[in-house]
Amino acid sequence: MCDVGQSASTQSTPGQVARRPGAPTSGVQTCCPDVAEFKKATRPADYFGFDDKTDMVDTGTDPYWVPAAKAKTAPSDKLTRDGAVWLSVEKGQTAKCIIDFTNNLTCISNCTYETRPGGKVTVVTSSIAADRAVFEIRGDNAGDATVVVRCNGQDKGWVHVACHERLTFSVGMCEVNQTITTGTGAAARSSLTLPRPTMNVAQYQSFFDDCYRAACIKVNITALPRYDLSATTNLAAGGGFFDANGQMESPGYRSRMATGIYPVTDAIDSAVRRAHPGYDKYLYLMIPPGARQSGTGYLNGFARGIGGNYAIFFNDDAGTYSTAAHEFGHTIGLRHPNDSNGTGQYPAHLRAGDTNVAANDVLNLMGYGNPRNQRKELRYKQWKAASGR
Ligand SMILES: [Zn+2]
Repeated sequence: MCDVGQSASTQSTPGQVARRPGAPTSGVQTCCPDVAEFKKATRPADYFGFDDKTDMVDTGTDPYWVPAAKAKTAPSDKLTRDGAVWLSVEKGQTAKCIIDFTNNLTCISNCTYETRPGGKVTVVTSSIAADRAVFEIRGDNAGDATVVVRCNGQDKGWVHVACHERLTFSVGMCEVNQTITTGTGAAARSSLTLPRPTMNVAQYQSFFDDCYRAACIKVNITALPRYDLSATTNLAAGGGFFDANGQMESPGYRSRMATGIYPVTDAIDSAVRRAHPGYDKYLYLMIPPGARQSGTGYLNGFARGIGGNYAIFFNDDAGTYSTAAHEFGHTIGLRHPNDSNGTGQYPAHLRAGDTNVAANDVLNLMGYGNPRNQRKELRYKQWKAASGR
């Protein structure tokens, strides 16, 4: 019987089977229109870097991920600010990621994953747990790729992945100090015995691992014996290195860098290096003779230039680990978010103004945000900039 009166779009034509509008097509599953979002794996040990800042959605534009009707096609420029996240994975290792479909299990089970271009990373496993798909991405070759989630022949969403060869740095960490007596009589004590947190290398190691895993960089820290420079340098308050308060104020550092600061630290560096050669970088923990001053005009540490071989950090509060990791970052080429020479290390919306705090990335390791002991983040361009990768 002829289907008289049907609309042209569903009329039978030779070779086709007519069907009612809206009826399912055999063999083609339907997907939910919105593929929720990519999220961090639960345990930090399950992934390398997770960067949801570099491509964060520009104010006023709609994210590709949300509108049901919007056609979704992975952009050719991976730095498009469409809300996609970046993962990093070390070559030969795997990183987990989660796609949260907000309880749409049918959608999860219908999706497939493609990598574009091929050859960089592979989706090796995917599983459904509760309302989430968990997938593991293996790094095959250094380079950037996009993992695209597909269903019904369409892109439903994507995550960019940067695969890096592992870089390894050996660091000799050395507490440097000299005997400076403060107080008199029964209150007298030397700076070598001042109360201070123990130089606990395991805690530095753990903090560095948290920060640099994102860049697929492994920093191996070795504690060197404490070095007493009483005979060679004057680190007393007002002695030319520290200021009259026994700290290092920022203006003083800048004005005396070449004359009073670097000659001292270069001498320390060569003395320690002579005694303990062979490390890629050296980090020196110095105990300032004076109490921590209030205000922001005091240094927590400094590196011997960008890409230099050593850095100094001062042991004064809970942020010391972050300062050590920050100064090490300078030695492998990382710059501040407000550094005019560092524009290639930050997208414009992550750069900082005068305060050096990136408003969109407050806890970036290389910025000055607070709380200082929680500054750990490194972003996509910093993964690349570390050691000129
Ligand atoms: Zn710095």
